[in-house]
Amino acid sequence: MKDNQQKSILIIGGGLAGITLAHHLLKRNQLVTLIDDGKNVSTRVAAGLVNPLVFRRTTLSWRATEFLIEGWEFYKELEKTLNTPLAEPIRIKRVFPSSQERDEWKKKEDLTEFKSHLLKISSSSNSQSFGIVKSGYVVHSENFYIKNQQYFDDLGILKREAFDYSSYSPSESCYQGKIYDHVVFCCGYRVFENPFFKDCQVKSTKGEMLIIHHEELPETESLHLKCFVFPMGNKMFRVGATYEWDNVSLSPTKKALDTLLSHLTHLTKVAPVVISQPVGIRPTTMDRRPVLGSHPTFKNTHVFNGLGAKGYLIAPTMAKEMVQYLLDKRIIPKEYSITRH
Ligand SMILES: Cc1cc2nc3c(=O)[nH]c(=O)nc-3n(C[C@H](O)[C@H](O)[C@H](O)COP(=O)(O)OP(=O)(O)OC[C@H]3O[C@@H](n4cnc5c(N)ncnc54)[C@H](O)[C@@H]3O)c2cc1C
Repeated sequence: MKDNQQKSILIIGGGLAGITLAHHLLKRNQLVTLIDDGKNVSTRVAAGLVNPLVFRRTTLSWRATEFLIEGWEFYKELEKTLNTPLAEPIRIKRVFPSSQERDEWKKKEDLTEFKSHLLKISSSSNSQSFGIVKSGYVVHSENFYIKNQQYFDDLGILKREAFDYSSYSPSESCYQGKIYDHVVFCCGYRVFENPFFKDCQVKSTKGEMLIIHHEELPETESLHLKCFVFPMGNKMFRVGATYEWDNVSLSPTKKALDTLLSHLTHLTKVAPVVISQPVGIRPTTMDRRPVLGSHPTFKNTHVFNGLGAKGYLIAPTMAKEMVQYLLDKRIIPKEYSITRH
């Protein structure tokens, strides 16, 4: 039985956005139904790296420290709920492409906001060619997606099917005859299929990666120069990722293979054995901010999207804020509100 405080909430899309949103809603004892058609090509293929730095500019990402801490707490609590390992710390090694970047890094490492993230380069070392981010971690993306789907299945709240837009009446937020208090679309790059939010400025950014076998790359840290190389265990590594805007093709390309292999030569001279070439599509925005909010006419029809290339960093906090918006009427700041468009 629904009590006065409980709202019935339909979430469409069971990727990172839908999953984090569902957990925050369940924590607040809401009645959640989740629809996902299993065609996930972002959350489950992502490298899952949570890196507070933007290397090219030696800056911190947007709200990095707060997101990093809150994300870690979220994933660790979720490990207990799902009874599976999800997140672990990883040393992130930036190989400097130039002495200017090294100098910039050295300037930044003493600043208060960087101290908890950067391992200080020893003052006696004038030749160290890399910097270490000590606060990063990795979320095991495939396990994260699959175990969450199983969990929601066991709770009886997951419908493994495609959402049928023709069966939705937004004026009553009614789907297939059932009225919901809120309906939230978390469809990632497939927002272009959505008649209510297709103009919300979320773009499709294709990313290709390689899974390689390599005898010599390090298995305890991720390497970053031109591309990232990320250990997966048993001498297997993920190499990535390309960026191609406005592309929704799920086919791997020779061009991406050549680009990634060429980038890899900056980190190792030993050729890898290429095992596979996964393809994914990120839901990105030009201003690199997510999109949260409601349809201008249908007030109970909402969107939570645009998590971008750092979804695993920002999703737990953004989902919490989305819940506060839905349940407590907390205002979404213009910076990431749908109204900015
Ligand atoms: C190659 C690559 C590497 C990445 N690496 C990282 C990384 O290292 N670190 C990081 O933080 N982020 C990374 N990301 C970004 C991260 O994966 C995304 O930000 C995040 O997964 C987006 O989640 P989402 O839930 O918005 O979208 P999705 O994961 O795309 O989820 C949307 C879901 O909605 C479902 N859906 C859509 N339409 C319908 C419908 N009509 N009916 C039913 N279901 C529907 C889909 O099946 C899907 O499961 C990477 C992404 C890619 C592609």
